[in-house]
Amino acid sequence: MKKISLVIPMYNEEPMVSLLIATLKEKVLSVLKDKYAFEIVALNDGSKDKTLELLQEEQKECPELVIVDLSRNWGQEPAVRAGLLTATGDCVIPMDADLQDPPEVIPLMVKMWEDGFEVVNAVRVSRKSDTSFKRDSAGFFYRYLDKISPKVKIPGNVNNFRLIDRRVVDEVNALSESNRVLRVEIPFVGFKTGAVEIVRAKRAKGESHYPLSAMVNLAKNSIVNISVKPLDIGLKIALCLAIFFCLSGIVELVMFILRLTSVFNIGDLALWAWLVINVILFVGTLITTVLAVQSLYIGKISEESAHKPSVIIREVIRK
Ligand code: UDP
Ligand code: MG
Repeated sequence: MKKISLVIPMYNEEPMVSLLIATLKEKVLSVLKDKYAFEIVALNDGSKDKTLELLQEEQKECPELVIVDLSRNWGQEPAVRAGLLTATGDCVIPMDADLQDPPEVIPLMVKMWEDGFEVVNAVRVSRKSDTSFKRDSAGFFYRYLDKISPKVKIPGNVNNFRLIDRRVVDEVNALSESNRVLRVEIPFVGFKTGAVEIVRAKRAKGESHYPLSAMVNLAKNSIVNISVKPLDIGLKIALCLAIFFCLSGIVELVMFILRLTSVFNIGDLALWAWLVINVILFVGTLITTVLAVQSLYIGKISEESAHKPSVIIREVIRK
């Protein structure tokens, strides 16, 4: 019998523990129990409340529950990574503890997995429950990610809630970066990807632990992990400054010739002022060119030190 692992990071989720386990039993485990074995990998991410004690209490009645107690609060992404490393299932489904990710779609995700999809994303059909700031900033951010990594399509309305086949989990686990962002890593490793649509519910109980600073951090890590293209900005600025410098040099030369031939009476002040502008542009061009050249090497170091695979083969098919 194949096994499905649910991976659930938990930070101060005391009000959610028993409701979560009961809901998973009702809407997932009992629905699929004839075909699949389960494990619920709960990651206690350094909670300061009674999350761990309550999980241990639940475990007495729920042999599927595996508790992973982290050494301190690491944050959601590292907690999910610990879950992916611990999970032993043939597929793994990371989800939030607050039931915002609707567990009732899991049977449908599993059906698509049976049909051959190796990743099944849970795509939010609407972001109506978000503030307009969050909607707009997310839209802009994913368009930017698309631009800097045209080969890896990172879907905008998908968080960590997705079904991931063991093959894909192993590829993701083998990545060696220390700042992890699962939603970028899964599209990076690839494989046959399908989607189910969900409406993301409101948090069932307790409160959000995701401040703006954590969102900014996630965005920053996503960009840095997926591409070194933003480093090109140095080169682009150097090119612009070089063009301005050339144009400005031509203007200066023309002004000088006009003055020598006395066609126009251009004053000394104007000539000197233009010369200062030229010198500033020249120095600016030099400095940004040096920085742009350094960026090329920084990009190379960054790519090499990430030790990402240069290609992943699904299988070799011979006759
Ligand atoms: N979480 C975690 N460590 C943290 C913060 C959050 O493991 O430092 C977990 C949290 O318990 C929940 C999931 O990550 O299961 C998503 O967090 P939350 O619901 O607070 O975020 P939001 O849905 O508001 O973005
Ligand atoms: Mg939440």
